[in-house]
Amino acid sequence: MTKTDLGKEYVFALAGNPNSGKTTLFNELTGSHYQVGNWAGVTVERKEGICKYVFHNHITHFDTHEHESEHKHDESHNHIRIVDLPGIYSLSPNSAEEVITRDYIIKEKPDLILNIVDATNLERNLYLTTQLAEMETPMIIALNMMDALESNGAAIDIEALEKKIGIKIMPISASKGRGVQDLVTAALETAAHHEVKCYPVSYKPHIEKAVREIKELENVPRLCAIKILENDERLSSNIQNEKTYDIIKNTNSLVTDMETYFADERYRFIRSAAHDAVTKTGPNKQAERTKKIDAVVNHPALAIPIFIGIMFLIFQITFGAFGTMLSDLVDTLFNVHFASLVSGCFERWNVSSFLTGLVVDGIISGVGGVVTFFPQIMLLFLFLSFLEDSGYMARTAFIMDKLFVKLGLSGKSFVPMIMGFGCSVPAIMSVRTLENERDRKLTLLLIPFMSCGAKMPVYAIFTAALFPNHAGIVTFSLYFLGIILGILSGIIFSKTVLKGDIPPFVLELPPYRMPTLKSTFHHMWDKAKDFAVRAGTVLLLASIIIWLLQNLDLSLHMVSDSRDSIIGHIGRIIAPVFTPCGFGNWQAAVSLISGFAAKEAVVSTMSILYGVNSTTGLVSSLSQVFTPLSAYSFLVFVLLYVPCVAAVSALKTELNSKKLTFFSVCWQIGAAWIMSALVYQIGSLFV
Ligand code: GDP
Ligand code: MG
Repeated sequence: MTKTDLGKEYVFALAGNPNSGKTTLFNELTGSHYQVGNWAGVTVERKEGICKYVFHNHITHFDTHEHESEHKHDESHNHIRIVDLPGIYSLSPNSAEEVITRDYIIKEKPDLILNIVDATNLERNLYLTTQLAEMETPMIIALNMMDALESNGAAIDIEALEKKIGIKIMPISASKGRGVQDLVTAALETAAHHEVKCYPVSYKPHIEKAVREIKELENVPRLCAIKILENDERLSSNIQNEKTYDIIKNTNSLVTDMETYFADERYRFIRSAAHDAVTKTGPNKQAERTKKIDAVVNHPALAIPIFIGIMFLIFQITFGAFGTMLSDLVDTLFNVHFASLVSGCFERWNVSSFLTGLVVDGIISGVGGVVTFFPQIMLLFLFLSFLEDSGYMARTAFIMDKLFVKLGLSGKSFVPMIMGFGCSVPAIMSVRTLENERDRKLTLLLIPFMSCGAKMPVYAIFTAALFPNHAGIVTFSLYFLGIILGILSGIIFSKTVLKGDIPPFVLELPPYRMPTLKSTFHHMWDKAKDFAVRAGTVLLLASIIIWLLQNLDLSLHMVSDSRDSIIGHIGRIIAPVFTPCGFGNWQAAVSLISGFAAKEAVVSTMSILYGVNSTTGLVSSLSQVFTPLSAYSFLVFVLLYVPCVAAVSALKTELNSKKLTFFSVCWQIGAAWIMSALVYQIGSLFV
């Protein structure tokens, strides 16, 4: 490396198969200096981070930890921007992920492709490598999971493999942090020399000739020339030169199936390369262990009961006594101690009652209502991250797949849907783990039908008021109705708005691994972070708005009776809409509106509007206003109508489409209104 290169900020693109350890290496390289977002136009996670390194005596020390002050004036402290590309198996444009990766490398021209390869799965991983190598960008291979390879009783002759492929290979173990330092050094060297090595796979002479010609005519990398020969739709629509069409026609007339030809050649090359390089040194302990565990866990008769058992246990811990205890703790800390501390201080400082009300009854109780669930959400994420990292989650998708395919869904949608029973927000966020874009969208549209935990208080108060002897069956019927309507909607969506093939289930089952504490916590936090941010932004704002609307009249004066408030007026305008459903009173309408902020707010709004300050008071008020039929119809509406604002905003982020989000909201409201009107109208015939 020359002196002049020191000041340059390099851009490295991290590419590899799913589960090859990309995230682990990314975190190892960037420490805490990264940002997460979405790729433009699609809901695929985009992660970018900075890897800091110091060049010292010809050795690069990369540095993930924050010693800002130490290095502030250190001239030799350089940056590498690491772009984490989505996990993919090939560069054919079969999915949004593959297109993103290809387009990124072609258009953004990173200084280096850092190709991460799972050493324990060499052959499958190298397929992508052969394609990446043809992108004509400097490249280096990080051969990951070397520790696992060893305990699998195998070894790879790195020199031999390197010679065969023609690309520098650095053995690493990302989760143990081994070899990462040398990897960075080697990567910097490769990037600095702009080395583009020869291509590993060569084809029949006349095809090589065609590839070379297209490459020149179209001025594209070798891989794109190959894809043009394969009649790749996206690239073929961009052909610049008429002569290219002739070459495609001529070459294709000599080969039956171009795509298969190239794939076969690649695989043949990989098999021989891997065969020569991999040696067995002993028994494969990991495979044996996986086989033993799977004999029980994936047993045809036991798989589903075990899965239900595990899920039940997780829900029991998260939403049962333990999780509730944690939440109660936060509830007491935040909603009791903190709230009374603030109102005490406000009183001492003579703050106006308006501001006190806004802060204490608006912001603190509004945001607090959600912060309360934070420990439970973290707990749920911790379990799910553990199941994911250990390799179990991949199996549940496999277990459910047969059933789900019949519904036009893939088995992978199953887990996020289950999570929807807890809270839609983390469920919606967990959809990111699905690889296929259509699956992601479809699952996102179904999650709101799963009855979330925040609706429980509404069910509880209404069943106590009107179905005191049948609370269990009424609640159960609501959950069940949610699932049925979710499945029906899924069938409708998959035949209309989200038409498309269910992708073949190519998921191969990863071996069971004991996840490291560090990576599990990291994954947990990765998921939970957004939730914390949302509580401080969207929910804060919603709480303020609802409180203001509840306390101000149209001329912006404080009201003593919320009937005269803005929200009271709105309620009376909207109420007639619900007359066919049997609950056309303005209080019900208003509670449904504030339920949009958070579903629990339906109950608290009713308490305020009916002027009661205890549960028993509300129970007796409700039993006078509602009949069992109109109450059930109301509950059906609460079950089905739009999820809360946090869920809708999560939905919008993940769907990455205002149109589709709007569609989802309308669909939910429509389904809610129709179902509850049906319940009330048909019910009225019998009562
Ligand atoms: P990604 O899908 O490519 O982002 O892969 P992850 O980074 O999520 O890693 C998948 C799994 O492999 C996780 O459970 C990691 O803890 C594990 N893993 C990653 N690197 C290594 C490694 O070097 N050795 C071992 N034994 N496991 C690893
Ligand atoms: Mg990952």
